[in-house]
Amino acid sequence: MIPFNKPYVSGNEIAYINDAVSRGKLSGNGYYTQACQQYFESQFGFQKVLLTTSCTDALEMAAILLDIKEGDEVIMPTYTFVSTANAFALRGAKIVFADVCAAVPNIDVTKIESLITARTKAIVVTHYGGIATDMDAILSIAVEHKLFIVEDAAQCIGGKYKNLPLGSFGHLATFSFHETKNIQCGEGGMLVINDERFNDRAEIIWEKGTNRSAYFSGKVASYEWMDIGSSFLPAELNAAFLFAQTEAYLLIQNRRKILWQLYYEELIPFVSKHTFSLLEVSLLAQHNHHTFALVCATAEDAQKLILDLHGVGILAVTHYKCLHLSAYYFSQYNGMELNNARRFEQCLVRLPLFHELEQVELLAITAKIKSFYI
Ligand SMILES: *Cc1c(COP(=O)(O)O)cnc(C)c1O
Repeated sequence: MIPFNKPYVSGNEIAYINDAVSRGKLSGNGYYTQACQQYFESQFGFQKVLLTTSCTDALEMAAILLDIKEGDEVIMPTYTFVSTANAFALRGAKIVFADVCAAVPNIDVTKIESLITARTKAIVVTHYGGIATDMDAILSIAVEHKLFIVEDAAQCIGGKYKNLPLGSFGHLATFSFHETKNIQCGEGGMLVINDERFNDRAEIIWEKGTNRSAYFSGKVASYEWMDIGSSFLPAELNAAFLFAQTEAYLLIQNRRKILWQLYYEELIPFVSKHTFSLLEVSLLAQHNHHTFALVCATAEDAQKLILDLHGVGILAVTHYKCLHLSAYYFSQYNGMELNNARRFEQCLVRLPLFHELEQVELLAITAKIKSFYI
């Protein structure tokens, strides 16, 4: 059987966890948390990074930092993970869903301006599969309408837009280290703060609404309740695991790139309007090889292809269900048709892509896909 994903382990994770144990501090914001934060700040040039227990938590921190409250509106693509919307719904915001592009399931920037009202506070973009959203357009809309930008960069570590790292464009950005992402620690994430106005308050929200991190760094004599917040910081055990992954970063990314390109070379000759398309290549130039997806010509084909692959033990999968049609949101749905997102919901099929996938396995997958279409 070929699974959809198998979390990669570099080999040093357990040694670093043992080291964290011997250091005698296992709660958050210790040696390994700081080592990871410094790594991400220096490797990607992020102004400030806070590790979190998940990308979901980082998104919740973003919503608190932007003071999102009842009556505010937040625009985002409907084709994204639940957490992108849930974090803002938790603060009482009205979520306004936009359609995605036809060629790649990122928010269609031409659809945003008609959704902006006096109550709009932020635009949240999700860079699908580490493929950049059109950030020039997003930035100019945000400047013109004085809106905050949050990048849900959960899948994006190492992806770029015009040579700059994804996650460096929004006021805030969020990453995931869930076991399905390129580098991982089971469950984990980080908040990237690109606007230093948020630095101090972010540390307070991160530490249960207290100024405990200022206390730890010797800036204040005691700590107390300063603001709302929660326990958003991971234990040192997770940070130690993640640190081993950061050391294997290039190895991991290179392996994914080799596998992704092999898929591409095998399948590109089969692209047609009767078979499937691949996500738009011009935008893929600087992606991080997080996802290899086919967009089948019909929903029926996608279902049949997935079943066919499952029949020979290959676990291909679909992806998001449109949030505007979800059980939770449907009663607020205004009826606007978001057809590109629906097409990706029904026709997008993700193929297995993980470090230990063997070339022969990959070729067995592409052979099965070719035989499906011949
Ligand atoms: C994985 C993912 C998340 C959630 O990340 P967690 O770390 O599991 O909370 C959020 N948004 C997107 C786009 C994702 O791919």
